[in-house]
Formats: sequence, structure tokens, C-alpha cells
Amino acid sequence: MLQSYFDTDNNGHKHKSFELPGAKPHYNPDRPGQVEHIFLDLNLDIPNQSYDGTCTIQLKPVRNGIDRLTLDAVSLNIHSVQVDATSTTYDYDGQQLQVNLANPTQTGQSIKIAIAYSVTKPQRGIYFIAPDKHYPNKPVQVWTQGEDEDSRFWFPCFDYPGQLATSEIRVRVPKPYIAISNGRLIHTEENGDDKIFHWLQEQVHPSYLMTLAVGDFAEIQDEWNGKPVTYYVEKGREEDARRSMGKTPRMVEFFSQKYGYPYAFPKYAQVCVDDFIFGGMENTSTTLLTDRCLLDERAAIDNRLTESLVAHELAHQWFGDLVVIKHWSHAWIKEGMASYSEVMWTEQEYGAEDAAYYRLLEARNYLAEDSSRYRRPIVTHVYREAIELYDRHLYEKGSCVYHMIRAELGEELFWRAIQTFVQDNAHNTVETVDLLRAIEKVTGRNLLFLFDQYVYRGGHPEFKIAYSWDSDSKLAKVTVNQTQNDLFDLKIPIAFGYAQGDVGAHSYAPLQKTFTVRVHEKEQSFYFPLEEKPQFISFDANNNYLKTVTLEYSIPELKAQLQFDPDPISRIYAAEALGKKGGLEALNALAEALKSDRFWGVKVEVAKQLAQIKLDQAFEALVVGLNDENPLVRRAVVEALGNIKTYASYKALKPIVEDGDSSYYVEAAAARAIGVIAAAQLEEKPKEEKVLKLLRSILENKAGWNEVVRSGAIAGLSQMKISAEALDLILEYTRLGVPQALRLAAVRALGTISTGQSATNLDRILERLTELSYESFFLTQVSVVTALGQMETPKAIAILQALATQSLDGRVQRIAEEAVAKVQSSAGSDQAVKQLRDEIDQLKKQNQTLMSRLESLEAKASK
Ligand SMILES: [Zn+2]
Repeated sequence: MLQSYFDTDNNGHKHKSFELPGAKPHYNPDRPGQVEHIFLDLNLDIPNQSYDGTCTIQLKPVRNGIDRLTLDAVSLNIHSVQVDATSTTYDYDGQQLQVNLANPTQTGQSIKIAIAYSVTKPQRGIYFIAPDKHYPNKPVQVWTQGEDEDSRFWFPCFDYPGQLATSEIRVRVPKPYIAISNGRLIHTEENGDDKIFHWLQEQVHPSYLMTLAVGDFAEIQDEWNGKPVTYYVEKGREEDARRSMGKTPRMVEFFSQKYGYPYAFPKYAQVCVDDFIFGGMENTSTTLLTDRCLLDERAAIDNRLTESLVAHELAHQWFGDLVVIKHWSHAWIKEGMASYSEVMWTEQEYGAEDAAYYRLLEARNYLAEDSSRYRRPIVTHVYREAIELYDRHLYEKGSCVYHMIRAELGEELFWRAIQTFVQDNAHNTVETVDLLRAIEKVTGRNLLFLFDQYVYRGGHPEFKIAYSWDSDSKLAKVTVNQTQNDLFDLKIPIAFGYAQGDVGAHSYAPLQKTFTVRVHEKEQSFYFPLEEKPQFISFDANNNYLKTVTLEYSIPELKAQLQFDPDPISRIYAAEALGKKGGLEALNALAEALKSDRFWGVKVEVAKQLAQIKLDQAFEALVVGLNDENPLVRRAVVEALGNIKTYASYKALKPIVEDGDSSYYVEAAAARAIGVIAAAQLEEKPKEEKVLKLLRSILENKAGWNEVVRSGAIAGLSQMKISAEALDLILEYTRLGVPQALRLAAVRALGTISTGQSATNLDRILERLTELSYESFFLTQVSVVTALGQMETPKAIAILQALATQSLDGRVQRIAEEAVAKVQSSAGSDQAVKQLRDEIDQLKKQNQTLMSRLESLEAKASK
């Protein structure tokens, strides 16, 4: 599964425990037997958002004498239960269904439990989507979401991933709707105004991967090796479907090769559904995706999220669906690999530098959660709800662990180990130890040391690296500090680089000398005899380990590394160190890299660093990047100019807001940035009403793909924290009827803008958020919590507490509780502190002007 397709603001706060009150160890239940087959026979009543039918479970008992079975079944209406065609008694408490067996079980003798039931207006598990007076164009759809423990909300089952069975869904739907489910379509039948679709999944899988999607979809046929690859989308979006999912057959081929196991199921369908609560869900052979991933022509320019989403869910067809986790605590085996498969596909499609950068961004997602939210072992079975585990540790850190295994084993052995893991465990369940066993079986290597440090305990190494050169003895001295508490014990390559002879501006130097050292103490110094002084040092050459680094090299080494290191991640680290050093020399090196680095990702990072340097010259260096041909670079430059907050940067950004850019994202970033600048304390600055007028005109005229541009305008408004007019405008866009993506952005913006508003306006915001908190849609609740979490008034706490106790969703409960703690700590920062902060900002600005002049003078003098 992939949680979010669109970025939301980080809702985190500092260093809380992962385990909330009420967390406890979770185990799979005792098994009465092996579920062999599940058959759902359902009649959908779409106008009334209800259905009835029968769930038949065939079970092969594991032992004699069991006279009672316990099934998960939440909020269902149970009409009758039969065992082997004979009615039986049962108890049902709305959570679990206890079925009494008149004849106690006999080992190996299968029984059939048939449960007749119905469901009306379900809240979870199965979702009925329909137009209403606010959204008359919304399509009619029905879809399901089982992971993690929600299948029990739509059919009775033994609802845990350790039970694998074949399955079958026969469903009657009104015409013209079509029903898509797991496996192959074995029968269809017209029946008056209805049509029956009968699907059969002949490979075993767990209950959470059973699915049903119903709608009046367009069906686009593709294929891989004779197997149907099908895209289902709302009619009219056929072009977008091909544009967004058209690489699927190539991906199926790629993963079949890499995992050493041909795609295992009879077809692969992707169904794009409305109001989907996740990015995507890898139901066996039938992935559901949010329809927001469908790209139009302009979005396709610089949106790679969709391609990654498609790769992620497809990778799960092996990791998750073919090889199934036995318990949620091992979910990183599948989510880590699905996330790492995004890296693999990026490498295949866009090359090694893009893949390395993708990996760095994944690592940063994990690092942000670790530093701002909590730290936990990747594998843990202590939680309140399994869904809490689906965090940045599970996905991104999991991905980084797979990469470290690859680096440790080397290319050939890694893939042989992965292939053996898949082949040995196909159609079966696994735990983390099974991966270790597969690695040992193929390679003889015991990687427990790596798992102990990165999987079974929290954290990562935080390195501080210093370097010096002794020219008399020709010794390079590298001092490595581990600044975190729990020390790591790793073998790390350190490389020394030389740019030979007549190098152009950007021929990247091969790393000439590499030494591998064991780093295991708090502080260690290493001495390396070298024939010549190296130009730069690459700690953890290739950057395979998950870590943070602080480089304490002098400017010449950092400049040379930024210019010549062949590894883009090392160049980025050098850029970060230069940004921290500041000064004109560092700035000039960064300016040069923004113009001439060969890789867009480095340029993006360089732009960020330029904005960190408090010199007026940073503007001139950055503004050049507005003409970069890569929209991702332009976007970063626009954001950086927003952070510089000067009248000059406003003037540079205004044309983008007015005239547009080929990229939606660049336009959105520009709209946000002018709001940031308008709100800054500046001597010379744009008139507030001018900026408001610009942003208002975007809201009125730039409706479009996923409301990216208009959401940018809302974000710009939210920065204008003391403006009552900006608030009024944002509030207008929180009303029902506003396109959902834009409305959610406006809801979130209420939190950002709240911190500068008057007491009266603050009450208006709280009132609106209270109203919104009663809406049951998951994404609305998340946006409300995000907004409240940014507020600095204790009044937000009551609303959050109500959500924490009343929301039906474990994720909402959790983030609401975290937000309470966040508000509690920020409510302390009062007006006086803020005023002081503003004054300091102004002093810094004056100082910057002086420094800039001084640096210019010095530069002139030294020429
Ligand atoms: Zn996933």
C-alpha cells in the first residue's frame, strides 16, 4: 500500500515514544485450521449503499475436537450460519462471530461455514461513492480497502495475514456498472437490469488482499506475455490512463526478471477510484489507485510520483501478495521492498544518479520522522493498531535497509538472494528471519549484524567527519565521530579523489584511492599514506549506508568535491557543508554548480543552499536558475527565491505568477513564494493588496489538474498571517462544493495562517475547524488535524481531543494525539517572543546587507 500520493504538511513534533498509551504486544491468533477457500456471493444495492449475500469459508481443521470457531466480523448484520449445509447456533457481538460446531472437528476433514449477512451504509472496509448536491459530478463507485484489518468490515473472515486461501467473488451489480476483482473472470451473466460478474482467484492469498471495485469504468487493454494488463478509469480519461500507467507491461517484465519469478497471477488490473483514502493498494492482481494519480499532459512534465506509485504497487504483487508477511510486525519486508523497487525502477528508467537521489530523498523522509516524531525498531509488535506501523520507518528506512543489503552482498549475490527468497517462499508467509535465511543459503553471509543495528533497534549513525593533510609525511588524517548515543559498527569505504590533468568544468574525477575502515568507536582517527595531496575526500564512498554526515572540511576540499565527486550524493553533502560555511567563496562555488552540474538533483539541492547563505549575492546566483530547462530545478529555484525574501526576488517571481510556466508545480511554488515575501519584514516590499490581488486572480482563473496551482495560491495566502483578507479568502475555499484537493489545501492553510490572526479571527478559524471535524471523510479529518496541530492556542486542544477519541480511524486518532502535544508546547510561545523574533530578523537583514558589501569589496581588492 502507499499511504499518501500528495504531500501534506509534516504534522510531527519532537521525540515522543512510538508506543502510545494502550499499546500492547500483538500476536497472530491460534489457528483452528487452514482456510482453504473463501467465496463471497453478493448483491449490491448501490442507491441504498448496502448489500447482502453469503460468505462461505472452507476450513481444514488442524486438530480434533474444536467445537467453536471465532471469526472477525465488524458491524455486519448476520442472518444465519450453516455448517456443511446444516443450520447452527452462533453468538455475535458486533466484533466477532462465534460459530458453534454441532460436530466437533476431525483433523483433515474440511468443513464449510456459510454465513448469510447484509451490510447497510458501511463506514469502513467497503466504500460507496456517489454524487451529492455539493458534488453533482462525482461518479458512482464502490470499492474496498482491506489492509490492514478492515476486511472484517465487509465480510466475515479470519482476518490476519497469516491465513492464505484461494478466493472467489460473485457479485450482482446494476447495469451499466462493471465489477472488477481478484484473479480471472470466469463467468458473466445478464439478469434483467443487473449483471453478474464472477471472479476466481486460484492462487492463495490473505483476506486483506481481497477486493472489489465497481463503477462505470472505461477499460483500456494492454498486455504482458499474453496476460491482460488492464487500466480502469472514469470514462473520458483514457488518454490520461495510458500516459500514467502505460509503462506497466515494461515494469512487469523488469520485476519478473529482477525477482527471478515471472508475474504469478492471471492478469494485472489497475483501477483508479474516486475518494481513495490511500495512494494505492496492491490487492492481488487488482491494484486500486487514487484517481488523482492520473496525469494530464502538463502534469506529466515533472510528476514522477505516479510512475513510482505504479511501480510500488506492482512490486507488491511479488513482495506482499506472492510472498506474504505472516504478521504486520514484518510488514517492512514488503513495504521496504516496494519502496526500494521505486529506486530500482528509477535506476532502470532514468539512470544511476536519479536513483541515488531518489534514495537520498527516501532517507530524508525517514530522518525527518526520526528527528521530529519518534524513533522505533523497524520490527516491533507493540502498538495500539497495526496501521500505526505504516510510517517512514517501515517504508523509507526499510528501503534503505534493502539497499544496504545490496551494497553489502554486491550486485550478483544480492539478486540471487532476493530471487531465492521469492522462489522459496512463493505462495507462502514469511517473517524477517526468512530473509536472513535466504541470504545465508545463497551467499553464506550472515547479515544479522546489519539487521541488529538497523532493523531490530531504532536509529542510525550520525557522523561528523574532519580531514587534514600533513604535507611533510604525506599523510591524510580523517577523524570520524559518531555523535549519536548507540554506536554503530560498520565497515566504511573512504575514498580520495584527484581531478587529473586538464579537466574541464565538469569532468567528474574517478575516485582514485579507496580504503575501507572499521568504524565502531565514538571517535576514531585514521591515517592514510598517499603519494599526493588529494583534492577531495569521499566518506562512505557511494553513500550506501543510511546515515547523516556533517563534513568539517575546508572550503577548497568542499569546492573540489562539489565539482568533481562522481557520486551526486557526495556532491550534495559538499553543497550542504558549503551552505553552512557561507561567505562569498562558498556562494560562488554553489553558483557555478547551479549553472553547470550535470545532474538536476544536485542543482535542486544547490539552490536550497544558496538561499541559506545570508548574502545579497545569493539572489543574483539563484535568479539565473529560473531559466533552467528542467522544471524540477526551476521549482527549487522559485522556492529558494521565496526563502530569500527580498523585493528583488518578488520582482523575479511575479512574472511566473502572472504569465505562468510550463509546469504546474513551478507556478504553484511561485504563488506560495510571493505570499512568503509579502509577509516578510522588509523595508522595501510589495504592497499587500497587490499580492492579494495576484493570488485571488489565480484562484479565480487557474482551476486545473488536481488543483495544484490554486493550492499554491492558498499556500501563499496562508503565509500572510496578519492579513484578515487572506483569511477570508481561505475560509471561502473550505466550503463544500470546492474541488476536494483545493478544499483540503484550504483547510490545512487555516492552521498556518492562524498564528498571526486577531483573537476574533482565531475564534472564526476554530469554529470552522470544529464544523469540519464532524465530516467523516478520512482526508478531511487528516487536514483538520494538520491545521489544528499548527495552531498556537490551547483552544485547539479540545477539538483535537474530540477527534482523538471519536474518529473511527486509528491513524486519525494517533495524529490527533500527537498534535495535542504539539499545540501544548507551541501555545507557550507568546506574542512578546514573536515580536522579539521579528526584531532579530530585521537585525539579521541589516547585517546581511553590510556583509554583502564587505564581501564585494574584499573580492574586488583581491583581484
Ligand atoms: Zn506499499
